[in-house]
Amino acid sequence: MKKVVKFGGSSLASAEQFKKVGDIIRADEARRYVVPSAPGKRFSGDTKVTDMLYDCYATAESGKAFKTKLGKIKERYDEIIAGLGLDLDLSKEFEVIEKNFSAKAGSDYAASRGEYLNGIIMAKYLGYEFLDSAEYIFFAHDGSFNAEKTYDILGDKLKNVERAVIPGFYGAYDDGTVKTFSRGGSDVTGSIVARSVRADLYENWTDVSGFLIADPRVIENPEVIETITYQELRELAYMGATVLHEDATFPLRKEGIPINIKNTNKPEDKGTLIVGNTCAKPKYTITGIAGKKGFCAVNIEKDMMNSEIGFGRKVLQAFEDSGISFEHVPSGIDTMTVFVHQSDFEEHEQQVLADIHRLAQPDSIDLASDLALIAVVGRGMKSTRGTAGRIFSSLAHAHVNVRMIDQGSSELNIIIGVSNADFDKAIKAIYDIFVTVQL
Ligand code: ASP
Repeated sequence: MKKVVKFGGSSLASAEQFKKVGDIIRADEARRYVVPSAPGKRFSGDTKVTDMLYDCYATAESGKAFKTKLGKIKERYDEIIAGLGLDLDLSKEFEVIEKNFSAKAGSDYAASRGEYLNGIIMAKYLGYEFLDSAEYIFFAHDGSFNAEKTYDILGDKLKNVERAVIPGFYGAYDDGTVKTFSRGGSDVTGSIVARSVRADLYENWTDVSGFLIADPRVIENPEVIETITYQELRELAYMGATVLHEDATFPLRKEGIPINIKNTNKPEDKGTLIVGNTCAKPKYTITGIAGKKGFCAVNIEKDMMNSEIGFGRKVLQAFEDSGISFEHVPSGIDTMTVFVHQSDFEEHEQQVLADIHRLAQPDSIDLASDLALIAVVGRGMKSTRGTAGRIFSSLAHAHVNVRMIDQGSSELNIIIGVSNADFDKAIKAIYDIFVTVQL
């Protein structure tokens, strides 16, 4: 049994947190490959080491004195080392970092030092081998992740290493120049390591007990999702639910390696299991609800639109020409509506409207702004009659006017457009009908 375990910044923010992590790893022999983030916030208002590094490097790059800032970063690590009682001195490492900052090694290099140094501490603390991700995780010339080379080299290496710490967030180009993933990218490293060793499970340890059915800012104490498929997760994440980096599922989806989101501060909680497929019956008909505000609907009408081949393409061309991506395109017989992010659209509004007129010659165009989209997602909807009926009657009871309905043929997702002002009310109504008042 092989497990890859990734720990987020808040799980490694202090010696006290490190000790919890150590206990978790030692509690299960299968936890052989450890991917740490950089130390995160110890308390609200604290600064993540990654942010301190970006800031320190910006100072260095502008030619100003940066030693005090670097010293503050070293203090964060020294505090952890002392708290763990380790015989470890990072002074030499910091000398190298200082030299490289002066030589303007780049902000990716700078930010990557957060996980690099934490990895050294973690390896020492656990007695695991330390592997520098710059030597095992690769990027192609165009900046994309080089999966083939990485899986070859890292997979080969780990065949011969029983237990290792592989820092998250970064890798390198072929010439050794360090590059990071986007923010929160240690999640991605964890997936890559899990894929490379063909792990049985990728445990992603954070400070929440999994994905919640709805946003806790809208629903008080929402329940945790026990099991979710990759596909459902993608739908919810797209609509704004975040816990895991978006790119973290891609290396694992095809391999059938599940991810378990776990809480370092409550390891006994089961967390959320993310799987490719499951016949486990979902607890509720819906798996989750997520949504975003700030959309605008461009409603286009033209008589006989349904028989005009190419009409849709011409309309969408107008958006493409202004570099605007569309979110949804529900259509009727003689109408077609394009949902776009209001903030993207506003700037190009007149240009897009003129282009639609020129390209598609519609009878009329009508705009509606300040709309929200809510996605009700669940594999359980497919086999359950009346899901849509329950959603819409709950909304009617809550006096929410539905402005748009879009159900994909996969029956995994029903998307509802409401006005921004009705957003919270609508989510509460849907949550209540499926979760609170379990039928
Ligand atoms: N430390 C990096 C960040 O703050 C990467 C990570 O934590 O996953 O974005």
